[in-house]
Amino acid sequence: PSIAVCAGAACHGLDSQRVAQAFQAEVARSDEGAGVEVRVTGCHGYCEKGPNVVVGPQEICYFEVKPADVPEIVESARSGRVVERLVYRHPVTGEKAVHLNEVPFYRHQTRLLIGDNTRIDPMRIDDYIAVGGYAALAKALFRMKPEQIVDEVKKANLRGRGGGGFPAGQKWETARNAPGDERYVIVNGHEGEPGAFMDRALFTGNPHKVLEGLIIGAVAIGSHKGFIYTRHDSPQLIAHIRQALAQAEEYGLLGDDILGSGFDFHVELHFDVGIFVSGESSALMRSIEGMPPEPRPKYIRTSVAGIWDRPSNLNNVETWANVPQIIEKGADWYASIGTEGSKGTKLVSLSGNVVDSGVVEVPMGTPLRTIVHDIGGGVAGGKQAKAVHFGGPMGGSIPASLIDAPLDFDALAKLGAPIGAGGLLVMDEDTDMVEVARYFLEWLTQESCGKCVPCREGMWQTMKVLENIGKGRGRNGDIARLEDLNDVTGAACLCALGKTAADPLKSMLRYFRDEYEARIARGE
Ligand code: SF4
Repeated sequence: PSIAVCAGAACHGLDSQRVAQAFQAEVARSDEGAGVEVRVTGCHGYCEKGPNVVVGPQEICYFEVKPADVPEIVESARSGRVVERLVYRHPVTGEKAVHLNEVPFYRHQTRLLIGDNTRIDPMRIDDYIAVGGYAALAKALFRMKPEQIVDEVKKANLRGRGGGGFPAGQKWETARNAPGDERYVIVNGHEGEPGAFMDRALFTGNPHKVLEGLIIGAVAIGSHKGFIYTRHDSPQLIAHIRQALAQAEEYGLLGDDILGSGFDFHVELHFDVGIFVSGESSALMRSIEGMPPEPRPKYIRTSVAGIWDRPSNLNNVETWANVPQIIEKGADWYASIGTEGSKGTKLVSLSGNVVDSGVVEVPMGTPLRTIVHDIGGGVAGGKQAKAVHFGGPMGGSIPASLIDAPLDFDALAKLGAPIGAGGLLVMDEDTDMVEVARYFLEWLTQESCGKCVPCREGMWQTMKVLENIGKGRGRNGDIARLEDLNDVTGAACLCALGKTAADPLKSMLRYFRDEYEARIARGE
């Protein structure tokens, strides 16, 4: 039997470390503990109910576990019986669930990427190998040609999970075919937007999955040098990446002559400088070069001229993590999941006014209602939903009446709430939609690198107009002023931060205009 204690960010904050230590001590001390393996794992997903514990192999789960509960759970792991008093009950319906796949939060999910988080200790490469890890790399190295790997990813129609939804295989092909002797592959692990925490959960909980995807990408593109770019302020994530790199090297999966294939590949770890815009692709590459992370015009494609003007393929954490399963199970299998234009599963970080927040993974095409109500348990406090917001400060809100919309890159973009990286915020009936737009604008104003005037000044002016409306000092013509400012920032800013800064406000003016008008009318 095994006991997996979640040490993801939320559980860690709820003192799961003490729970893990109590398990280790109990297993070492008691007769019941003989043969029970305690595993400290990455995020299980159900952040609302931490610390999470899963007893294997039956996957009996316990939530909000305290050190005092430990002896009974250890005893139950040996005997196979369930600790009745700790059995999960749904916070709203009271529904009882013993096994992980019976808990409503998990039952409606398809956890292809994050499911292994409960089964592996991210600090142990052997755990990853035991669940089939690095088999896809072996296949890519010994049974496929690089062009075949690119074709497979193209055929799977894997779209980038970092925000743009650009087809990954197409980008790989461009980088592979671009002129030059040296080319790079990069993991964008800079998850900076408020409300997005799924990449950290995945990367911290299963770093080898991301690394395996990166190495396969390197083989496909013909790159011998990779970079992992991540935040400087996530010590747990950094420790796990460092360990993964060291162990991969030790196992011959990184370095010269990988697995005796003759293919060389080395990886460097780089850290951000603490500002949001350093996650923008061209800014990130400047940062890796040792320069200030300022974005540059988009007519120069980084896949052709990126780091030191060499072809550089950048994908985010979740995109890379999808690669091993595509290579292992094939593009047809992958493309059978999801919708016509959006394939596979998507990680979503669910938060806001929702009963159960956490990291969720569902097939593309899943209605937002399933995520918010079936998985998330609906709106907290028995209130009604007013809106759901995707994509943080560069995303958009749609009203609750559109909650049956599918999780699909194109469908949601059309509605004005592009998926972005996958942060989903639920807003209840009391939410002030003027304040939501103002808050996001304020956040972006602080994060703007200041390089271009429309971004630096335009966002500031927009924020001031919103501030006035919020304080009841709005004037006739303010909505037209906001729309003019939106047009200018959208058209004249250099990078996505400025270009899409107005998107939340645009979606508000599309769906909640009457609220803005009423506030202005009251203030006049
Ligand atoms: Fe910097 Fe904003 Fe211009 Fe982007 S749009 S380069 S963040 S000033």
